[in-house]
Amino acid sequence: ERKPRIVILGAGYGGMVTASRLQKANAHRNAEITLVNKHNYHYQTTWLHEPAAGTLHHDRTRMLIDSVIDTNKINFIKDDVTSIDREQKKVQLANRELEYDYLVIGLGSIPETFGIPGVYEHAFSIRSVNSVRLIREHIEYMFANYNNEEEKTEDYLTFVVAGAGFTGMEFLGELTERIPALCQEYDIDREKVKVYSIEAAPTALPGFDDELVEYGVSLLESRGVEFKISTPIKEVREDGVLLDNGEEIKSQTVVWTTGVRGNPIVEEAGFETMRGRVKVEDDLRAPGHDDVFIIGDCALIINEETNRPYPPTAQIAIQQANVLAENLQAILSGKDELKSLEPDIKGTVASLGGKEAIGVVGSKKLFGTQASAMKKVIDNRYLYILGGVPLVFKKGKLNFFS
Ligand code: FAD
Repeated sequence: ERKPRIVILGAGYGGMVTASRLQKANAHRNAEITLVNKHNYHYQTTWLHEPAAGTLHHDRTRMLIDSVIDTNKINFIKDDVTSIDREQKKVQLANRELEYDYLVIGLGSIPETFGIPGVYEHAFSIRSVNSVRLIREHIEYMFANYNNEEEKTEDYLTFVVAGAGFTGMEFLGELTERIPALCQEYDIDREKVKVYSIEAAPTALPGFDDELVEYGVSLLESRGVEFKISTPIKEVREDGVLLDNGEEIKSQTVVWTTGVRGNPIVEEAGFETMRGRVKVEDDLRAPGHDDVFIIGDCALIINEETNRPYPPTAQIAIQQANVLAENLQAILSGKDELKSLEPDIKGTVASLGGKEAIGVVGSKKLFGTQASAMKKVIDNRYLYILGGVPLVFKKGKLNFFS
């Protein structure tokens, strides 16, 4: 009798941790497990604001999949997923087709544009190694351009970050750390460089503790960021942004960080979605599907206390992957009872560049160096989950106070 086939789509936090847990449990003895990913490497999405600004090399955020996953136990296929056929239980890849008995969807997200025109055409986004390499190179090119132009146009040195949520603030933190070095390298006065943070909501970091928000905003202002709060963007253009209030900001660099929606492949497969995300059952199955599990940014789960969806995070993706790996093993050993996810939000820390960060861990607020050290502990903890102490030494952040 052939073994059941488990196909895992996407090697992000959700997919990698699921595969790694199944491997450690030797689940390959009872199932044929296949992991599919676009690239032959896994990258840490939560670190990408750093290589985007050029404060960390992108290689530090990624690792070859076969350096963490034993491909004798888990088949790895490097390919692009193009569609999912729920009826036929098949997945179409760019170069082949796969059949499954159990499917895990962990394909991550795409930028949310809210239908604002010009975002895809003219803005950058922080979403993959390829996308952040481009941002870093582009920023540097703007500096290099400036002194070679006859007519000095400000827009080369004007940087717009759309969205003052978590990702936007973290990127501003890194960018403002990098700018002085770029100014020095390209012989440009710091005063010539302008950085705008544009946010439609009435505050930066909506939902975050007021005192921490104030700390973060003041810090970034002291490094030269101009915040435009309660200021929706109407359109992104080739030469900058048009705001709802009619103001135009000329810029060659607009970085879009206004949140994400689930990978469109999920919606295209016919699952019912909200912002591209499927409201999954407690055991992480798609409603009405015993054989499809959805995790990470493609899944939506409701916080019972607030009756609102949890924001999609790596923290939740990892917790989902842990429960999912157990549930798959339960299925393989013929059990009907599956475990429910009980989200346990340990805290949230946003880095703000250099030794600065803000966050809440448990009920404790953290600022500055203490928060920054905590952020590194969190980053290293993930590496430990995936590859133990050796991976922490290889890729971790061990310079806690610098
Ligand atoms: P991802 O980790 O994004 O992985 C998806 C994977 O699928 C990728 O490897 C991708 O290559 C692959 N893939 C996509 N499409 C295809 C396809 N068609 N075919 C094959 N493969 C495909 N969360 C936190 O908890 N804490 C933080 O501090 C934090 N900071 C963040 C900072 C930044 C700058 C950003 C952008 C996000 C941050 N997040 C944070 C959110 C977190 O990164 C995401 O919630 C998390 O990455 C979701 O995990 P995932 O497994 O769903 O998807």
